[in-house]
Amino acid sequence: MATQAEPEPATGREGRRGFARTLSYWTLGTGTLSTMLYYMGKDEIEAFDKEPPLELTLVPDTFHNGHPIVQTPHTAGRERLVVLGSGWGAVSTLKALECDAYDVTVISPDNYFIFTPLLPSVTVGTVEFRSVLEAIRRIIKRTRGSYIEAAAVDIDLERKMVLVKQSGEEMAWVPYDRLVVGVGAQSITHGATGLEFCHKLKTINDARGIRQHIMANFEKAVRPTTPLEEKQRLLTFVVCGGGPTGCEFAAELYDFLTEDLKHYFPKAVQEMVKVVIVQSQDHILNMMDSVISEFAEREFARHNMTVITNSRVQSICETALKYSTKHPDGSVTEHEIPQGFVLWSTGLSLAPFTKLLCDKLPSVQKNRHAITVDEHLRVKGVADGSVYGLGDCATVEYPHLLNHITELFDSAHHVGNTEITRAEFRVFVKEAAAKYPNAASHLLTLERDFDSFDTDGNGRISIDEFEHMLEYVDSKLTALPALAQVASQEGVYLGHGLSHLAAIYASDEDTRRKVEASPEARRGVEAQAVAPFMYHHRGTLAYLGRAAAADFGEGRAYRGSNLAAKYLWRSVYWSQQVSLRTRLLLAMDWLKELLFGRDISKF
Ligand code: FAD
Ligand code: MG
Repeated sequence: MATQAEPEPATGREGRRGFARTLSYWTLGTGTLSTMLYYMGKDEIEAFDKEPPLELTLVPDTFHNGHPIVQTPHTAGRERLVVLGSGWGAVSTLKALECDAYDVTVISPDNYFIFTPLLPSVTVGTVEFRSVLEAIRRIIKRTRGSYIEAAAVDIDLERKMVLVKQSGEEMAWVPYDRLVVGVGAQSITHGATGLEFCHKLKTINDARGIRQHIMANFEKAVRPTTPLEEKQRLLTFVVCGGGPTGCEFAAELYDFLTEDLKHYFPKAVQEMVKVVIVQSQDHILNMMDSVISEFAEREFARHNMTVITNSRVQSICETALKYSTKHPDGSVTEHEIPQGFVLWSTGLSLAPFTKLLCDKLPSVQKNRHAITVDEHLRVKGVADGSVYGLGDCATVEYPHLLNHITELFDSAHHVGNTEITRAEFRVFVKEAAAKYPNAASHLLTLERDFDSFDTDGNGRISIDEFEHMLEYVDSKLTALPALAQVASQEGVYLGHGLSHLAAIYASDEDTRRKVEASPEARRGVEAQAVAPFMYHHRGTLAYLGRAAAADFGEGRAYRGSNLAAKYLWRSVYWSQQVSLRTRLLLAMDWLKELLFGRDISKF
């Protein structure tokens, strides 16, 4: 007689279920971790089996305006892409480019990329120099690109060549089929004199110089032979400019004083330390929400830092700084403070190459602050659209909606009507937002404001009311700020766009023939193939010394003065690193700082 199967003991079934659950968690966890690691190290993986770059030579016996011409790699069927710069814009372009789309040559005086948002942390040793740098040769390895350590000093737009100057004054022309200009900007002087006595914070050498200067001042101030007045001067640190860079430097300096130096320097010396911020506007961080400006001022006051507003620095000498303050009644007073250290961080002006390029296209390039590029990032005035500009050196000019008023008005209302109804308006707003992505966020709010634009209150929008509305939208389209996230988004857009064009030309003989007809034909085809650039603001962060603030625009401003805010700020920048290597180095630096404090040796 067949025996009935014994019912399985409950514990055995549960045990198997538990095992299955554990296994699925492990699989999920390992899968997620592997995917994360793959994306973090994707470039390294892609670069792994790529051959080293080819050697660059000169075209034999050929000169242009007295200088030799470089023979860059030129694979059949591929265009030569020359990228000027190794900053945010250039590197984001290179990272987004398909591996085999172009023969790439990068030209920059610096053979590395700097993760600038963490540069203030380098000045006091929270983070080490090499943790914020990535060698450009490592970045371009996956494209088998070449690199020339040089600065672009001239351009021949007709013959499509840039003149580059290497150290040692040697010059050579580098030919291109497409050129990406990402040369950044330089500090503005605002007419102040004595800037040679100030530090700037733009390069890794600037950060190194600042770190040495801070430690040197402390060591000089503790010497028994230093007079009291001199000690006070040496320990007065002045920051000119209350923007994010100036404020973040002041915050890092404060952390260094309160977390590290307090253990190693006599109390009397510590009490002499003064940090002063001189700001020309009425608030610091005035580009951020007023809630954040006020929070930063309160935090700095709590840390005994002095914020001097409405004041302009006039001159700086080795031991003092002069500034003038404008009072609410219009009167101006002059002041002088003895100082042992000055950081100049007051804004940007055109880099020499940017100015030169603008001067070559005087009829279209009229902006004194940047190269004007169209919505596809193509430099205005270059007929075939083969020169692109991005980052701090360029400004995007989007077409004004008012220029298209007739076309827009006609598309909005039904044939036969002379005004736009509310229902038609709703459809129009959505269609226009899709067509003009740069104005989308402003266009989409129009529906809510229908009644305020319908000034005669008849429930419809007339052509005059429509004109006012477009004027309003155009006025909202301001220039994009000089931020890493702008340069980086532009770079990603350009990298993808250029790869897409290369793919079209490689596979479509008809299109290739069509663009060869004229430079204008090329411009037209490429504008159709790649959608216009659209910037998405992901918020601005500022570190304020054991406190951090984030501004996401439209009144969404957050701030926190605790460790969580500090680590949240760090985690955002950790996630934005350009390589797995810098991620690991940063994590180690932060751990080292937590365990042992910052290094206070002066070297
Ligand atoms: P850069 O990154 O400045 O790169 C320019 C490159 O061009 C450099 O490699 C340079 O060597 C090279 N170059 C210069 N001249 C030539 C030439 N003639 N030929 C060839 N190459 C040339 N932005 C944020 O969004 N968030 C932040 O927290 C933030 N913090 C910052 C902190 C500091 C200290 C600084 C200085 C900037 C900070 N920024 C921040 C701004 C951000 O760094 C810039 O907006 C961004 O670097 C612009 O990128 P870019 O590619 O245009 O220029
Ligand atoms: Mg009306």
